[in-house]
Amino acid sequence: MFQGYIGEGELVCEVCDHEGLEEYFSDQETDSPCNCAYCHRPINCVLTQDGIKYVYESVREALKNGLNARSDWRWEYGWYKGLGVRDHAEQLLEYNLEKKAKRVVEYYLYHTSNMP
Ligand SMILES: [Zn+2]
Repeated sequence: MFQGYIGEGELVCEVCDHEGLEEYFSDQETDSPCNCAYCHRPINCVLTQDGIKYVYESVREALKNGLNARSDWRWEYGWYKGLGVRDHAEQLLEYNLEKKAKRVVEYYLYHTSNMP
């Protein structure tokens, strides 16, 4: 996860040009995972229950699709080449998940650990 900066309504990561922007503190909950507006790097933010559910459903979808990553969130247009679902799935473990959900996320993380 990367630190975010905010300016003119855009969230920008610490790697992209954030000169003059204010540091984004993750005390505000969001319904969806945060990514840099320029390069799509995952930005640290606090998820609401809806946000957690959204990422968890994406993990389940990725597992259902067989982990070939073609249908996973891939950032085709940014220069950041991470596996979008994976970046945010790691964050899910910081929340209080149900036992089963936690196992599903851990299974997913384990099986995607070698994916670029
Ligand atoms: Zn960025």
